[in-house]
Amino acid sequence: MPNLSDIGTIKDILKRHQFSFSKALGQNFLVNPTVCPRMAQACAAPQGEGVLEIGPGIGVLTQELSACFQKVVCFELDTRLLPVLAETLCECPNVFVRNEDFLKADLKKVLQTEFPGMRVSVCANLPYYITSPILMCLLESRLPLDNITVMVQKEAADRICAEPGTKLSGALTAAVHYYATAEKLFSVSRGSFMPAPNVDSAVIQLHIRQKPPVQVADEAFFFRVIQASFAQRRKTAVNSLSAGLGIAKADIAALLQSLGKDERVRAETFTLQDFADISNRLYKG
Ligand code: SAM
Repeated sequence: MPNLSDIGTIKDILKRHQFSFSKALGQNFLVNPTVCPRMAQACAAPQGEGVLEIGPGIGVLTQELSACFQKVVCFELDTRLLPVLAETLCECPNVFVRNEDFLKADLKKVLQTEFPGMRVSVCANLPYYITSPILMCLLESRLPLDNITVMVQKEAADRICAEPGTKLSGALTAAVHYYATAEKLFSVSRGSFMPAPNVDSAVIQLHIRQKPPVQVADEAFFFRVIQASFAQRRKTAVNSLSAGLGIAKADIAALLQSLGKDERVRAETFTLQDFADISNRLYKG
């Protein structure tokens, strides 16, 4: 089996398959041999059984996952990578590659059919152009996942792992923390990838909560309130909520005042409980 911890081997495989990187598909492949074993081990602890990978690329992380898990199922959208993966994973009989768009997959069905009765984790070096949709898709489907261990851009990692109500928090922070706890595991420099992106990255791990930390009358409306609050980041929460929800500024200001908030308050200071209070009070049923 080709040794993908060797950059010369990676370059040789890509050349033989006349592979050209697609920017549109977020193709920055890992070439730092220390990163994938760390990711796979962090994800597998304490005893992973099955793992879903999004975007195996040429299979560098997949080889590591194959060694740590009983079964690996990967979603790779780029058909050109299938012959490459057939070569690099030829000695990994527990790996199954699906040539599908992960965002269009029926994940509940995939879990039931591919991993019956198994504990399942997610591990991936995410295509950065769809970081938020992938995370929200994983969290909203309420799958019984052990953990989600993913590489994302450093800025996204900082946002996701920030506490709601602190300076770095945004809509994704609040949405992720509703479903899961988030922890930054380690940083990865841009030079660890081929081609090197313009930003550094980090590996984060999410653990899905048994139940949300706040009670909301309507989840869809709760998420609308979060989106609206952050839609115009430089504006006050009164202005953003009024514009986003089509409610008079005076009514929003009165509501915030009744919750003990100044009318110039900004959304990044809101905790999850604040978002729950605001959405529960505005929700009309
Ligand atoms: N895992 C490899 C690595 O670490 O070297 C590749 C990671 S690369 C950042 C992202 C991978 O996701 C690419 O192989 C790309 O083709 C694939 N991809 C992009 N969009 C996808 C989608 N919607 N569904 C499945 N795979 C996708």
